[in-house]
Amino acid sequence: MAAPPTQSLVLTFEDARRAVEDHASRLAPAGTETVALLHAAGRVLAEPIAADRDIPPFPRSMRDGYAVRAADLATLPASLKVIGEIKAGPLELPSPLNQGEAFSIMTGAPVPPGADAVVMVEYTSQQGDLVEIKKGIAAGENVVAQGAEAKRGNLLLDRGTRFNEAAIALAASVGKSRLQVFVRPRVAILTTGDEIVAVESAPGPAQIRNSNSYSLAAQIQHAGGQPVILPIAPDHAHRLRDLIEEGLKRDLLIMTGGVSMGRYDLVEQVLADLQAEFFFTGARIQPGQPVVFGRVPCGAGSGGGGRLARSGAPAPSSNNSSHKYFFGLPGNPVSTMVTFELFARPMLEALSGISPRPLTFLHARLKSEIRVKPGLRRFLPALHVGQYDESIVELVPWQGSGDIAAQARSNCYIVIPPDRTHIPAGEWIAVMPR
Ligand code: AMP
Ligand code: MG
Repeated sequence: MAAPPTQSLVLTFEDARRAVEDHASRLAPAGTETVALLHAAGRVLAEPIAADRDIPPFPRSMRDGYAVRAADLATLPASLKVIGEIKAGPLELPSPLNQGEAFSIMTGAPVPPGADAVVMVEYTSQQGDLVEIKKGIAAGENVVAQGAEAKRGNLLLDRGTRFNEAAIALAASVGKSRLQVFVRPRVAILTTGDEIVAVESAPGPAQIRNSNSYSLAAQIQHAGGQPVILPIAPDHAHRLRDLIEEGLKRDLLIMTGGVSMGRYDLVEQVLADLQAEFFFTGARIQPGQPVVFGRVPCGAGSGGGGRLARSGAPAPSSNNSSHKYFFGLPGNPVSTMVTFELFARPMLEALSGISPRPLTFLHARLKSEIRVKPGLRRFLPALHVGQYDESIVELVPWQGSGDIAAQARSNCYIVIPPDRTHIPAGEWIAVMPR
């Protein structure tokens, strides 16, 4: 078997994240398919969508009231002749409005030519066909001009947009009942460890049920991928290699466990044997320090030995077809979840066709002080509470990165920069939501 990388490549969080983002920016989805609009939520658009007509297609009244010429209200109260009523959805566009006239008009109805404002019904009183208006109005008020939101032909949604409810509404508004989307990447999940047993089996006294494959499957689905769970790999090089090769047939391989410094942590050795190139073999974070990111040339066989990239920057030839990327995430369940979010998600998003975006944190006020040692960027399970204008966050008590129960009680991570050792209560602090 080939030796694992001779020196470890442990990067700061920012450098490790940048390495992932650089590689992600060169990836593309495997293909496209067509889906019905109703099934588009979470999918990624593979075609640009343009406005098929002006939006709105006519000057639209925003209120129930009277369509008027603003100039007719120079002297108040003004008395105007009501020449008709315009409901939303008339068969014909309304006839023009002349000086001294008004149309009774409903929300969503087309404002007639000649009218330039809509007076809300509460500032008016109508007697027969005369309406008295008590309040002046500026031209344009309560009317959205034709094409003000978009002109016919304008790009509304670009390739790479992930469909949320707003994008779905916009696609519906321009008549797109079927959409071209990118196929979802298939992500192999390979959990390793002699002590790990299937959820369905009765564990022996020192055995642990496999939870990582399930948390990862949920995270992969949430990020837009299709999880493919492989059998649990024992800490045995041959079987591990077979399963890693199986996993490398998918668009991305995510392994958990076996990447620490222990005698039976074999993942890096087996990958090295497959001529893997490692971009980092650790990140200065907590939890999740022993996290591995690299790629294997397609069709790689035995021999070779691992290569350690000198920096996180990708080689110019990097693309989906020549290499398969992998992550070796630490086996401790909270570390697995955190490192997926920080590093694997951008790769998965790139394979899904999502345009890259920077990692941003929200902020909340810290409830109780935190003291930590310097040197690591920390992502600690926390609870974000408060209501309305309050935003308060507090660490969840935990027994370290194996504590799934604490993780399940939390709803975010408090993010602590590596140079901070004391954060007093009351400080606004970065939070990464989950
Ligand atoms: P490792 O990274 O292999 O050293 O594992 C670190 C810790 O995570 C050990 O306590 C493992 O038992 C635990 N662990 C590894 N894989 C899993 C898994 N799939 N589900 C739950 N716990 C795991
Ligand atoms: Mg292990």
